[in-house]
Amino acid sequence: MPLWTLRGLAQGIATTRWPDGSGGDDGQQGGYGMPRIGAEQCLDDCRACAEACPTKAIRLDTRGHLAELDYGRCIACQLCVEACPAGTLQSGHEWAFGVRERADLRWSLDTDTPPAQALASRIESSFRGSLHIRHVDAGSCNGCESELQALGNPFYNLHRLGIFFTPSPRAADLLLVTGMVTAAMREPLQATWEAMPEPRRVLACGTCAVCGGVSADTYASGHGLEGVLPVDVWLPGCPPNPAAIIDALLLLLERKPQRIHGGRVHAP
Ligand code: SF4
Ligand code: SF4
Repeated sequence: MPLWTLRGLAQGIATTRWPDGSGGDDGQQGGYGMPRIGAEQCLDDCRACAEACPTKAIRLDTRGHLAELDYGRCIACQLCVEACPAGTLQSGHEWAFGVRERADLRWSLDTDTPPAQALASRIESSFRGSLHIRHVDAGSCNGCESELQALGNPFYNLHRLGIFFTPSPRAADLLLVTGMVTAAMREPLQATWEAMPEPRRVLACGTCAVCGGVSADTYASGHGLEGVLPVDVWLPGCPPNPAAIIDALLLLLERKPQRIHGGRVHAP
């Protein structure tokens, strides 16, 4: 018997039970996620967070206080946390930020959290058993691809959830897009979408696909999928980790509830 077989037998099952609800390991303990907004008051005329943010995710009010944080633009770099002298912005460990509506990624001081609603069933029952994904890199740095690759490793073992990648758009239910959607990739992306059979879905995977990320709106780069394709789930993160991608896929399939509403976490 080959040595690797013996080692595998000795190690036992490597695949996590997460996310089946039995307390399995999601593989992301201790990792940083999106910044949290604490109860501490901003200092007057501070502006430090907005000046530190490389993606213009933060908007201030006239007093220089934090007024809006768009998690759809956030790359979780933690620069605003380091810059904030009042402790208003704090390190967070929430990374599962998949949402159905782009507006749900915007935290605003003025709007209180809309309550988590029962979602109307929008996914055809035929998707619930299995899902085939066509991935298109529309101008990514390949950070997102590296996380996508991890979905197939023995720990996450995506196939156990009935979710598969396919090279053919004709066999795909879901178009998973990474990257900022560069000018050169617009047409191939559109062609892939048109080649997919109905019903077809779109997942914007990574902050670049949501809004263009750190390189948005240069002469060749785009600003993500907004206005390009109809997006069903928006998942920011730079890159989103494999567990966040699984979480977003299960949200798309209505096998998990949405946890983020109005930029705030609602534990189900
Ligand atoms: S963590 Fe997000 S909001 Fe804060 S500076 Fe980085 S990109 Fe901007
Ligand atoms: S979201 Fe981050 S990791 Fe993903 S393609 Fe953009 S820059 Fe790279």
